Amino acid sequence: MKMEICRLCNKEAILQRSHIVPSSVFKSVKAGESQLYVFEEHTKPVYRNVDPKEKLLCRDCEQFLSVNYEQYGTAFTKNPKNVVKYKEHIGFKKFDYKKWYLYHLSILWRASISSLKEFSSIELGDFDQILRQCILANCLHWGGSLSLDDFINITMFRVIDKSSRIEDNAIKNIMLNPVRKGDNDDVLFFFMTNGFLVQFRLNKNHIEQLRYKTERRTDLDRNMQRFVRKVDITESAFLVDNFNWLIEQVKS
Ligand SMILES: [Zn+2]
Repeated sequence: MKMEICRLCNKEAILQRSHIVPSSVFKSVKAGESQLYVFEEHTKPVYRNVDPKEKLLCRDCEQFLSVNYEQYGTAFTKNPKNVVKYKEHIGFKKFDYKKWYLYHLSILWRASISSLKEFSSIELGDFDQILRQCILANCLHWGGSLSLDDFINITMFRVIDKSSRIEDNAIKNIMLNPVRKGDNDDVLFFFMTNGFLVQFRLNKNHIEQLRYKTERRTDLDRNMQRFVRKVDITESAFLVDNFNWLIEQVKS
């Protein structure tokens, strides 16, 4: 077996065929369905079986991601007892911001370092190394007083269709691979699974401004992420673009 360098710990090891999006996400999206919808940038959404893998990580790092982030990240939205429903949003009773944040970040990071064509629009450049360090250290702090979430903001939305053209079960069966939107200074990445749209915002101008700002995200701000706003598919241009195709399919 060939020894290569693990992309997370940088140690020499036999690399595993690593999932970019955790396999448990695929399993849950596919529950009861043999295939799932996959949206990718610049291509028509397709209804197919995909589980992109690439040799990226050693066995220890695979385990590390699974135990520290994925077990939490893939389960916390699924426990009905943990969910409080409101008209405009839902709330999670138990919520671990750091695990939640680093779980989603680890997916974005894997998509960024991946050489697979599915993720070619996800390029974080110099940020790859910062993300790597934070994921490996299980810590949001970086560069003294800076916290990763001062410049990569993650927001989660629950996608709904008020017009009921798409059933909620169908929305939950949609899997959207990480895609990129926006210009170079203010970049948005989206990832969607199980009815939740995750938005990553990386604003490079904002990083410059941080040098002069003393205000930082507080733990109260962070804890507010436990409340997830419902977003109708007609509310966001991004969702409209991607869902129009699906609505056409459902109608026909
Ligand atoms: Zn490793």
